[in-house]
Amino acid sequence: SPFPIYLSGDVQRGFGRGGKDLGCPTANLPDESLPPMSTVTQTGVYFGYAQVPDAAEGDNGVLPMVMSLGYNPFYGNKQLTAEIHIMHEFKSDFYGRGMKAVVLGYIRPELDYVSREGLIEDIETDKRVALKSLARPGYEQYQADSHFTTLD
Ligand code: ADP
Ligand code: MG
Repeated sequence: SPFPIYLSGDVQRGFGRGGKDLGCPTANLPDESLPPMSTVTQTGVYFGYAQVPDAAEGDNGVLPMVMSLGYNPFYGNKQLTAEIHIMHEFKSDFYGRGMKAVVLGYIRPELDYVSREGLIEDIETDKRVALKSLARPGYEQYQADSHFTTLD
């Protein structure tokens, strides 16, 4: 298995569509943080844990996440992008802050949607799958992984 895969980088600004159109903001990782993902070739949705130390609110801030890995057609020539939705309600955004993640498994391939509702429904399913998986004994340990910053 290629997992766990460790990622870290400063959150980049995108087109601002995730949060507004889909009710699901995704924090974009910078290109230079992506080489560890080259051990997996599949685009699609992954799950794991993520932490934004500067945005942690009174706890250690290592939270369940789903990550979309894909090719942004805007960049034309096969530019792989990774966007992470953290399953937590943050009080404000955290552009420019450092984000760390451990990717633990693959959920599904990238799909084409005929409707926005279809996509939103699948994102909800992805979140449930991620939470179910992370609750299993083999995954729990990664919430305390030394990759993450120890706070408090
Ligand atoms: P963009 O296209 O700039 O990535 P999004 O609509 O996808 O815009 O929103 C992403 C931004 O929202 C993140 O960069 C982060 O600053 C903020 N944000 C707030 N809550 C979350 C969350 N739970 N998960 C990911 N990003 C979040
Ligand atoms: Mg985004």
